[in-house]
Amino acid sequence: EFVRRPLIAGNWKMNMDHVQGITLLQKLAWTLDDAHHDHRRVEVAVFPPFTDLRGVQTLVAGDDLDVVYGAQDLSEHDSGAYTGDISGQFLNRLGCTYVLVGHSERRTIHQETDATLRAKVEAAFRHDLTPVLCVGEGLEIRQAGTHVEHTLEQLRADLEGITAEQVARLVVAYEPVWAIGTGEVAGPEDAQVMCAALRAEIEELYDAATAGAVRLLYGGSVKGQNAAQILRERDVDGVLVGGASLDAAEFASIVRFEN
Ligand code: PEP
Repeated sequence: EFVRRPLIAGNWKMNMDHVQGITLLQKLAWTLDDAHHDHRRVEVAVFPPFTDLRGVQTLVAGDDLDVVYGAQDLSEHDSGAYTGDISGQFLNRLGCTYVLVGHSERRTIHQETDATLRAKVEAAFRHDLTPVLCVGEGLEIRQAGTHVEHTLEQLRADLEGITAEQVARLVVAYEPVWAIGTGEVAGPEDAQVMCAALRAEIEELYDAATAGAVRLLYGGSVKGQNAAQILRERDVDGVLVGGASLDAAEFASIVRFEN
């Protein structure tokens, strides 16, 4: 029924220590199982803090959970004198499928530039991780009405030098900064307009097959109660969820968005 398999992704941010993380993931697994709904038509991914990844790996493998996981950031380097940084190689060895790149909190709090983000996208592919590249405008740009151009410019800058084969595997998350953690959610039409523009831009930069394969997510105050509407839009292939992913029942209701 879906052209692309929907991805429901939970970004835990700097919440949940390694014990809380296990508990949350166990609860989520029970909730999804108990409901006897076939959530396998969608892919479920969680993005815990680095320190939780080993525990998540053990739980997912041991209980054979139908959940994949990734990290919230990675270094653009593979190894060496980069104190405090984490290599994509390490994430790969911990069984990560995905890695967030360029979340707005990384762009603003850590001043990550598009040049750095492009290097991180490359590093992710180098270590066989699928980057979830986050793009999106702040409030001032939205009010000025230049949000589409701004977001496409981020996309172009972050994908410079990335091949069509790589882009076909990529996930791009449109996250308007004014909607993140604010309770203010972009309308489904806003999400659709931007995702359609992103897909058209990818077709322009690459080709129609690549644009048809890439998955585009919306993120910003997604909850159980607004997920279905957003996911119904034709160019929206999933959601990236922050706050609501910390509550197993709420996140599970997003996973089962049609029910
Ligand atoms: C996010 O951090 O990616 C996000 C979308 O947060 P929230 O759902 O809390 O707005």
